[in-house]
Amino acid sequence: MRLCLPLGLLLSPLGLSAELEFTDQAKLHDIQAKISAENIEKDIRKLVGFGTRHTLSETKSDTRGIGAARRWIKSEFEEISKACGGCLTVYFQSRIIEGEKRIPDATEVVSVIAIQTGTTDPNRYVMMSGDIDSRVSDVMNFVDDSPGANDNASGVAGVLETARVLSQYEFNGSIVYAALSGEEQGLFGGKILAENAQKDGWRLKAVLNNDMIGNISGSNGVTDNTTARIFAEGTRYTETNKEKTTRRYTGGEVDSPSRNLARYIDLMADRYIPNLDTMVIYRLDRFRRGGHHRPFNDLGYPGVRIMETNEHYDRQHQDLKIANGVTYGDTIDGVDFDYAAKLTSLNAVSLAGMAWAPSPPAQVNIGGAVQPSTSLGWQALDKTQNSQLAGYKIYWRYTDAPQWQFSKYVGNVNEYTLENVVIDNYFFGVASVSKDGFESPVVFPGPAGAFGE
Ligand SMILES: [Zn+2]
Repeated sequence: MRLCLPLGLLLSPLGLSAELEFTDQAKLHDIQAKISAENIEKDIRKLVGFGTRHTLSETKSDTRGIGAARRWIKSEFEEISKACGGCLTVYFQSRIIEGEKRIPDATEVVSVIAIQTGTTDPNRYVMMSGDIDSRVSDVMNFVDDSPGANDNASGVAGVLETARVLSQYEFNGSIVYAALSGEEQGLFGGKILAENAQKDGWRLKAVLNNDMIGNISGSNGVTDNTTARIFAEGTRYTETNKEKTTRRYTGGEVDSPSRNLARYIDLMADRYIPNLDTMVIYRLDRFRRGGHHRPFNDLGYPGVRIMETNEHYDRQHQDLKIANGVTYGDTIDGVDFDYAAKLTSLNAVSLAGMAWAPSPPAQVNIGGAVQPSTSLGWQALDKTQNSQLAGYKIYWRYTDAPQWQFSKYVGNVNEYTLENVVIDNYFFGVASVSKDGFESPVVFPGPAGAFGE
C-alpha cells in the first residue's frame, strides 16, 4: 500500500510524522535491476517443454514428466552454484507418500532444494518457494499434456532467477530456494520440508511462497501489471488456549508474524519495485483454496503467498481444449514475463533485506496499563550471530491502520519507554536494525506476534 498523505498530516503524540524513515539501500536497487524477464521466460518454456509435471507422472524419461523436470531444476541450481564458487548446497528432498486421496499408490514425492548458507547466522533461514508439479481438469490425470506455465512454472522460474541474482552476494542469514513437489496432490512437498525444518531445528523466519506470478489478465476483465497480492493468515494456527486468552486482553489478532512479514514485503514493494503496489490480504489464501505456505503456517512458521491480483480461471487446472469458442489451458501465452520478473524482484529484495538484517527481536514484551507511557522490552540478540547489529527500532500504528505509521530508532538497548504514548490507543512492535540500516520485520509483542528465538 502507499500512504498518499501530505507529509506530516498524520502526527503522533510525539509530533513525529507518518512518513516512516528508512535507509535507502543501493544494493537492493541493484538486485531489483538484475532480475531478468528473459531468464524467467527461458525457464518457464523449459518447464512447459516437459509436457506434464504431474506428481504421479513418468520419472524415467529425460524429456517428459516430473522426473525429467526435477533433474533439470537440480542441474540449474548446480550451474548457479558453480558460478558462485559452490555457494549453494543443492539436494533432492523426498518421501514416499501413499494411501492419500490424491496419491493412492506409493509415490516418491521429490522436491529440489538449494541453500545459500549465511556467514554469521547460518541457522537462521528465509525461504522462497514455487511448485514443480502441474495438473489438468482431473487432478488424477498424469498422462495428458499439462503445461502449468503460470501454475506454477512461473513460481519455479522466479525461484531459479532469484538464486541466480542473490548468489552474487553474501548474507548474514541463510536463504533457501525451494522447488516443491506434490502441491496439487495435497501440499506434500511443503509438508515434508516444513517437518524437516522443524526436526533439524531451523530458525525459519519467513516463507515467501510464489504460486502463479505471471498472469495479468483476469476472468474479471481486468488487465493490470502494477499490483500483486500477499496473502497472510491471522492468528497463528499453533496458538494455545492460554495464548488465546492473553491475546484477548492484549491484542494481536492482526499481528501474527505472517502479517508482519506481509507488511515488510509491502514496504519493500513501495521502496524498491518500480510501478508495483501490493495488497496485503488478511486471509490464509484465496477463499477455500490452498498453497504451499500453509504447511509452514501449520507448524507456526511465518509464511505468506505472493501472487498475481487477477486470476484467469480458464487457464487454471484445465484440459487443453477449445469449447464454444473459448480456449482453455495453462499455456505459455498466458504468462507475462515482465510481470513475473517484477514479482520475482519483490521476493529477491525482501529475502536480501531480511538476510542482511539482524535476527528479528525475540521475547518481545510490553507494559503500560494504567500509565501514560508504554514500555517495551526484548531479549539481547546473540552478538556472534548478529555482529552487524546496530540497535532497535520501535514501530507503532493506530489499531485500525493496516501498515506501521510511526517509528523511533532507540539504539542498542533492550528496553525502552515511549513517554506519553498511551498503550491502549496503538499497536506496537520492534525491529532490529543493522549498521548498514537493514531492518528485520517488525515483531508484535507476546506469543501472538513472535518470530521465535
Ligand atoms: Zn494449482
